[in-house]
Amino acid sequence: MKGWKEIPEGGLILNPGNSINYKTGSWRSRKPIRDEEKCIHCLVCWAYCPDGSIIIEDEKVIEINYDFCKGCGICANECPKEAIIMELEK
Ligand code: SF4
Ligand code: SF4
Repeated sequence: MKGWKEIPEGGLILNPGNSINYKTGSWRSRKPIRDEEKCIHCLVCWAYCPDGSIIIEDEKVIEINYDFCKGCGICANECPKEAIIMELEK
């Protein structure tokens, strides 16, 4: 880790396209868990996730990318089938 004297003033991030390098999932205190039995693949969670962490394939939810999911809980709030619960991180 660079010290405060080596980083740009104000903590600016000047190199574009670098978000892939920052595993923001490490900020998470709660983890969304999807119940495959309840999920109807309406993709509402995918549409609302601010971090693009709901992974879909062939118009179906296949997994949650925990490297980047910050645990905001929006997907759980918006799911019409209550198919996502938020668990405390261990
Ligand atoms: S919002 Fe709920 S029911 Fe819809 S795809 Fe997501 S988890 Fe499944
Ligand atoms: S908890 Fe937030 S960041 Fe994580 S998958 Fe749900 S909406 Fe996306």
